[in-house]
Amino acid sequence: MLKNFVLPAVAAALLLAAAGPANAAVKGFACEPEWAALAREIGGDRVTAYSATHARQDPHHIRARPSLVAKIRRAGLVVCSGAGLEVGWLPLLLQRGGGGIQAGKPGHLMTSGHVEVSEKPGSIDRSLGDLHPEGNPHVHLDPRNILSLAETLSKRLSAIDPSGASHYADRLNGFTASWKAAMARWAPRAAALRDVPVVVHHKFWSYFIRWTGMRQTGTLEAKPGIPPSVSHLEALLASTLESNVRAILRTPYDDTDPAEWLSSRAGVPVVELPATVDREAPPGALAAYFDDVLSRLEKAIGQR
Ligand SMILES: [Zn+2]
Repeated sequence: MLKNFVLPAVAAALLLAAAGPANAAVKGFACEPEWAALAREIGGDRVTAYSATHARQDPHHIRARPSLVAKIRRAGLVVCSGAGLEVGWLPLLLQRGGGGIQAGKPGHLMTSGHVEVSEKPGSIDRSLGDLHPEGNPHVHLDPRNILSLAETLSKRLSAIDPSGASHYADRLNGFTASWKAAMARWAPRAAALRDVPVVVHHKFWSYFIRWTGMRQTGTLEAKPGIPPSVSHLEALLASTLESNVRAILRTPYDDTDPAEWLSSRAGVPVVELPATVDREAPPGALAAYFDDVLSRLEKAIGQR
């Protein structure tokens, strides 16, 4: 009797495990890999998380290609940075998506709408090609934002998939505990970066800089998305020398020339930092990402 009962149960469990996320309750569509990674952290096996972009792609400039349309059509949750980062492609994709992922629905999560956005201009003006007309959208670079957004995401998942509510609450608890422990480990490393002057290519690192207390003395871009003019570069060289800048920060997809120009004249190293996690990043990858960025900075400025 016992045999007859146990075996089908085991077989069913194995079948379920093998089917895995293919039968997940929620199909997630993330604009950037960090949000796919966070969805995997909180969603576990109830959520699949597809990222529209990979770590070496500039999320400001993506084409709304047919394969992305096919993905968003099946999505029950869309997680993106918002604040205009994906304005060139996400609206087109959303038009093809279902009702549950439209603005105002639980399946539509723009993370910048749930944290404090910095560098907000007085009025929205894209006329000069400014890529940050609604403030800085790169909110994943402050670990405190990740902590609060994990909770926001957990609530949204519970709203979309109520029968998984306790599953999401459990996973949120686990993630929150490990993230807080990681933040405690990072705190002295961040403190050691306080007041270190840096120049950035694009205003990508603003939240990370605010968290660590580093000092951004200038940007290679004249404005977000606007390449530097000769006069801009010359003024930046002067201020870089004056401020004793320790590093020039760039993402893998920023144009290398302006940073090299400044580096060779000011004698300051260029530090390429990963913009985000891998597209298929497993749980744990977000914490490893901050470890990696901190290590690269420590190495570059000679603290390790
Ligand atoms: Zn940007």
